[in-house]
Amino acid sequence: MLDFFIKRLIISFGYIANYGYSDASGDYYISIDTDKCNACAKCVDVCPKNVYEIVTDDYDDQVAKVRDTVAKDLKYVCGPCKPVHGAADPPCVLCCATAAIVHSW
Ligand code: SF4
Ligand code: SF4
Repeated sequence: MLDFFIKRLIISFGYIANYGYSDASGDYYISIDTDKCNACAKCVDVCPKNVYEIVTDDYDDQVAKVRDTVAKDLKYVCGPCKPVHGAADPPCVLCCATAAIVHSW
């Protein structure tokens, strides 16, 4: 019974899915707030490196996720979108109307 209530709590509030890794040079994670994600697929369409896909999660919701094939290589895959000087949000962050995507670097 306790498991049921915990699962309902998670469903009610969604969860943050983190994809990426840390190494000696820093933390390279893309976080997707599945409660905010409406599976519009704009991030899929705008990403030049095919980083995102839309999947059905463990709670039968359609959500964006980072492909497993690039999750351990994000620093390099996303490098061309990130200016060396001056902070600027990359295309995937800018296109997301619900602000579901956050990059750690
Ligand atoms: S653009 Fe945002 S809301 Fe749309 S699928 Fe991507 S993460 Fe989800
Ligand atoms: S930073 Fe660029 S390459 Fe990386 S996920 Fe976003 S749009 Fe795709």
